[in-house]
Amino acid sequence: MNLIPIPAFDDNYLWLWHDGHQALVVDPGAAEPVMQVLRQLGLKLSAILVTHHHADHTGGVDELRQTGATVYGPEAEAIPEPFIGCQGGQILSILGHTLEVIDVPGHTAGHVAYYAPQAQPSPLLFCGDTLFSGGCGRLFEGTPAQMLDSLTRLSALPDPTRVCCAHEYTLSNLRFALAVEPDNADLQRYQAECLRLREQGVPTLPSTIQVERRINPFLRSGLPAVAQSVRHHDPKAMTEVDVFAALRAWKNNFR
Ligand SMILES: [Zn+2]
Ligand SMILES: [Zn+2]
Repeated sequence: MNLIPIPAFDDNYLWLWHDGHQALVVDPGAAEPVMQVLRQLGLKLSAILVTHHHADHTGGVDELRQTGATVYGPEAEAIPEPFIGCQGGQILSILGHTLEVIDVPGHTAGHVAYYAPQAQPSPLLFCGDTLFSGGCGRLFEGTPAQMLDSLTRLSALPDPTRVCCAHEYTLSNLRFALAVEPDNADLQRYQAECLRLREQGVPTLPSTIQVERRINPFLRSGLPAVAQSVRHHDPKAMTEVDVFAALRAWKNNFR
């Protein structure tokens, strides 16, 4: 199976996963860039997976459905009909692969992620706008406690899991991450590596769960170093949820 991030708009990636004949695409905000790749590689689109209802993730669904592809999306959200409604714990079988649906509310109320544990050479996670490399999605419809819970669930996936985020936000996320943890050597190294990639026009994604656990402050709000740094901004942040909420608020205003 081959994994391709198709760039769209300013900073979206529409993830295409294919076996040389059939493909699935995740969060097609636009149809044309996907159609182009399908034509170039002579692929048939079998499935469209949607993580949440935002237009930059669903805009191409209706047109791509015309190819005969089946659409899967979060049961609780308004995805262009008709689609198969999914919820956490459900197991899908697509292109001969098992995909587990994980509930990850926070960015939107019904946001789901799709996890392929048997993908080779390592598991795959399509997490939409929940987890970004070095960051996380804004809380439009959920609470900090919900988002922390969702990210904790993703953080518990195996180390080598490839993290396919829907946006190239890595460099700006890492500037913030370094403001939170200036002494994190893994983070400094990772930033240097990502700067090199972006200079060459190469995506920084997919990342891995192992990398994110080491460098992403939003997966590290339980660590003393992160909590201490956050308390310089918000001395009232006591519990891990408080720290997480203060971290998210700090990032919202970070320039
Ligand atoms: Zn979104
Ligand atoms: Zn988005």
